[in-house]
Amino acid sequence: MKPVIALVGRPNVGKSTLFNKLTQTRDAIVADYAGLTRDRHYGSGKHGKQEFIAIDTGGFEPKAESGIYKEMAKQTRQAVAESDVVIFMVDARDGLSAQDHDIAQYLRKLGKPVLLAANKAEGMKASAQLADFYELGLGQVHPISAAHGQGVGDLLDMALEPL
Ligand code: GDP
Ligand code: MG
Repeated sequence: MKPVIALVGRPNVGKSTLFNKLTQTRDAIVADYAGLTRDRHYGSGKHGKQEFIAIDTGGFEPKAESGIYKEMAKQTRQAVAESDVVIFMVDARDGLSAQDHDIAQYLRKLGKPVLLAANKAEGMKASAQLADFYELGLGQVHPISAAHGQGVGDLLDMALEPL
C-alpha cells in the first residue's frame, strides 16, 4: 500500500499548489480566491523511489455550522481519516490565525503524525512571524514554498520516512 498524505489547512494557504507540486499535475484547481477546491482530490506522486498518494482538500473550518463550509469540513475529516500522515499548512505571510488554532486543536486529538508547514516562506528568514506557529503545539515549524518548491523535498523526507 502506498502511504497517503492529506494536505489540510484553511482556505488559500496553498494546499492545491503543494498538491500540484507533489503529484506533478495541474489537476487540482488553484484558485486566487478562498475555498474553490470543495472536494477531496487524489493524486499520486513519487519521492525518490517511494510512491505515495496525496489528498488535496477544500479549506477546513472546524467551527463552520452550515452549507458549503460544513461539507468542506466533512470532506477534510474523511481525507484525514484516510491518511497515514497529515501536512497541516499555514500561511507564513499572513501569520497565525484563529482558524489555524481551531484546526490544530482538531489535529492534536487525532494521534496521527502531523507536520506543520509554513507556506509562502520563500525569501523569508527565521522570524517572529514564523516562531508564532510554535503556539499551535504541533512541534517543529517547517518553512516551505509550494510555489517555488523550497523545503518540499525535506518535508517529504520527514513525512514518508517513518511510514
Ligand atoms: P488553497 O486554497 O489552500 O488550495 O490555496 P491555493 O493553492 O489555491 O493557493 C492560494 C494562493 O496562494 C494562490 O494565489 C497561490 O498562487 C498562492 N501560493 C501558493 N503557494 C505559494 C507560495 O509558496 N508562495 C506564494 N508567495 N504564494 C503561494
Ligand atoms: Mg485548494
